[in-house]
Amino acid sequence: MTELELLLDLHVQNDRQGPGGDAETLRALEFSGLRHIKGLRVADIGCGTGASALLLAETLKTHITAIDLAEPFIHRLRARASERGLEEFVEARVGSMESLPFKDHELDLAWSEGAIYNMGFERGIRAWRQLLRPGGVLAVSELSWKTASRPHDLEAHWRREYPGITTASENLRMLEHAGYEPLGFFFLPDHCWMENYYEPIRLGAEAFRNRHRNGPAAAELIRAEGAERALYVEHGRYYGYGFYIARAPGSAG
Ligand code: SAH
Repeated sequence: MTELELLLDLHVQNDRQGPGGDAETLRALEFSGLRHIKGLRVADIGCGTGASALLLAETLKTHITAIDLAEPFIHRLRARASERGLEEFVEARVGSMESLPFKDHELDLAWSEGAIYNMGFERGIRAWRQLLRPGGVLAVSELSWKTASRPHDLEAHWRREYPGITTASENLRMLEHAGYEPLGFFFLPDHCWMENYYEPIRLGAEAFRNRHRNGPAAAELIRAEGAERALYVEHGRYYGYGFYIARAPGSAG
C-alpha cells in the first residue's frame, strides 16, 4: 500500500477529515445570508467524506456538487448520502479543486472546510471568485495564526509544514484584494479539533494498525497524528482554523 492509500484508509471511516463541527458549519451558513434562499447552486470543494456537504444538503434542500480528489472519500460520501436519504441533493464527484467543473458565475455558494491549503488560500480564493455569481458567497476554513506573535519553535514548525499560514487579518486583507466583501469570521472552537477530529483517529488507531499488520508505515502515521494532536494541545492558543465568509459584490442581498 502506498503512503497515500494508508492515509486515506486511516480517515475514510471518519465523519471529518479535518477540524470542524456541524454547529460551526451552520454558523458560517448564517453569516452567508443565504440560509433561507431557495434553489441555490452550491459546491463543496475538498469535501472529504462529506460532513459539511451532507449538512448543507439537509439544511438548504438544494443541489450540492461535492468534489474531492480522493475516490474512497467520494464513495463513502455517496453511501452516507443514501443512508440519510439525501442522494437526490448530493452529487459527489472525484475531481480537483484546481479545475472545477463549473462555468464562471455559476455558483451561489462555494464551500470548503479544511481543504483550500492544498492550493493555497490566495490562489484558491482568487480562482473560485470567478465561479461565484454577483452576490454569491465563499465560506472557507483555513489554518491561521490566532495572535500577532508566537513561540519561535512553533513558528518554525508551521513555516516548514505549511508556509502559507498567516493571521486572520492578513487572510481578510487577501479576500478584500481578491474582490470580496468580508461577511464574517470566527475561529473553530477546540472541540472541533479534539472531539471531532483527533478523537475518532485515536479511537480507530488500534484497528488501523491491526488492518496493516502493525507495519512501520502505519505505525508512523499514527505517531505523526499523535504528535500533531500534542502540538495542538500545547499551542492551540496560537493557531487554529479560521472560518472566513465573504461575498462577491454585485447585487443586493
Ligand atoms: N472538507 C472535509 C475534508 C478536509 S481534508 C472535512 O472538513 O472533513 C482535505 C481534503 O482535501 C481531503 O479530503 C483531500 O482528499 C482533499 N484534496 C486534497 N487535494 C485536493 C485537490 N487538489 N482537489 C480536491 N480535493 C483535494
